Amino acid sequence: MEEKVEKGKEEEKLCKRCKQTFISSSNNSSSCRFHPSFFVSRRHDDQKRYYELGPDDPPYAAKFYDCCGAEDPEASGCTTSFHVSYDDD
Ligand SMILES: [Zn+2]
Ligand SMILES: [Zn+2]
Repeated sequence: MEEKVEKGKEEEKLCKRCKQTFISSSNNSSSCRFHPSFFVSRRHDDQKRYYELGPDDPPYAAKFYDCCGAEDPEASGCTTSFHVSYDDD
């Protein structure tokens, strides 16, 4: 068993994308759940009808993630990737 230990214990880093802490050694391509796009407030594109506006809804009632159409700001991410720390570029 050959393990290279650079520091006594691993530093917890903060992911600038999902705002969760993580350690580098457990960071893998499915660690970070996030939305690649912003939460927007506008009409959906014609092709994307995630939100059906009701008769009394103003147009801006449609708020959703531009990437996947999730209408809950707390909706878990639609994409997974590595965490990105503030140290990384
Ligand atoms: Zn999304
Ligand atoms: Zn993350």
